[in-house]
Amino acid sequence: MLYQRSSQLFAEAEQVIPGGVNSPVRAFKAVGGTPIFVKSAKGAYLYDEDGNTLIDYINSWGPMILGHAFEPVVQAVIEKAKLGTSFGMPTELETQIAALAVSMVPNIDKIRFVNSGTEACMSAIRLARGFTKRDKIIKFAGCYHGHSDSFLIQAGSGAVTFGSPNSPGVTEGTAKDTLLATYNDLENVKTVIEANKNEIAAIIIEPVAGNMGCIPPVAGFMEGLRSLCTENGILLIFDEVMTGFRLARGGAQELLNIDADIVCFGKVIGGGLPVGAFAARNEIMNYLAPLGPVYQAGTLSGNPLAMAAGLTMLQTLNNDQAIFQRLADKTAYLAAGIDKVLKANNVVFTINTVGSMISVHFDADPVVDFKSASKGDNPTFKKFFHGLLQEGIYIAPSAYETWFITDALTYEDLDVTIQAIDKVSKTF
Ligand SMILES: *Cc1c(COP(=O)(O)O)cnc(C)c1O
Repeated sequence: MLYQRSSQLFAEAEQVIPGGVNSPVRAFKAVGGTPIFVKSAKGAYLYDEDGNTLIDYINSWGPMILGHAFEPVVQAVIEKAKLGTSFGMPTELETQIAALAVSMVPNIDKIRFVNSGTEACMSAIRLARGFTKRDKIIKFAGCYHGHSDSFLIQAGSGAVTFGSPNSPGVTEGTAKDTLLATYNDLENVKTVIEANKNEIAAIIIEPVAGNMGCIPPVAGFMEGLRSLCTENGILLIFDEVMTGFRLARGGAQELLNIDADIVCFGKVIGGGLPVGAFAARNEIMNYLAPLGPVYQAGTLSGNPLAMAAGLTMLQTLNNDQAIFQRLADKTAYLAAGIDKVLKANNVVFTINTVGSMISVHFDADPVVDFKSASKGDNPTFKKFFHGLLQEGIYIAPSAYETWFITDALTYEDLDVTIQAIDKVSKTF
């Protein structure tokens, strides 16, 4: 397949947009080459500017769980647009989507809508700090919670001491309030809590990690975290921006049977429009302005087009109780197929899956945290990525990303993908 026009468009974009992209991972830095410019998409397929058709395993990094341009969502947006695209005033639609979300997700009474997952996580942390009157938070290495300052932190000199900024522009002052812990390592979390007694407002975690590949919590880890939080007056924040309305009707809380104190949403909840949200029980949410003292606001929050897309998406998921099983079945089929061909071609690998999330790691050891995820063979991943691109299969241009299975993918698409992986892995 040729990607000539994409290369041209990228060169033009680089003149006026930093790195030619509006979000860094799109730039193919981790795999080399130039990004593909998309023209349109429908169902399981992307149609690019060179006239190629690609089977899509990124799906806008998660939102398009029903496939691209899902007709009812598109219609809802068109109809709403005719009535005005933004008011900065309350609409009935906002109550409708809030009520539906509250009915689908365990352990939440109220939800506040924002414009991105970043905003949701940033606001959840502020709310947790205001509510507990404590400053520090714990996050896990390899978990992503958007690009706000508090989360752009890497491990500092000692694991139990404060972190240091991992981007210029993040101040040391901000970094000192973020503590780093190791995913799936409860003893490590205990040590960090002990060293910062009565100072920690919240532990924020991806309940199933999806930003270092797909990494499920090991048995007992999430239960242990829940107990530690309760014992120490720490709020447990589930960042379900990726897992919410994806792993189950009620997200990872339902799948893992663990109640979080605050839950963050994004991606699926917006049906492909810019939406985030955070939610909790009344005692916590009532702490938010205008009811309570913690400030949070947004000119375009609850935007009618975004709420129309999100409501239609949630209604569809809510009315189709079989969808999450269907997605898990497709994922299992794909995983089994990949497993078979990679083994036959003597490739060293590990596959992780949870529900409709799947990641392939080119390393033999179990991938359970950031350190083990980082061990994957990157040159092999690059060959894998570019090989699949030539076969018309689009996976994320980074070894640290989850693939997203959508309802639009057919078993035929999955077979085509498995055959392509067979062909490509013969060249490793
Ligand atoms: C994507 C993502 C975010 C950030 O959401 P944006 O909408 O990109 O700001 C936060 N947390 C998790 C777990 C995510 O996957």
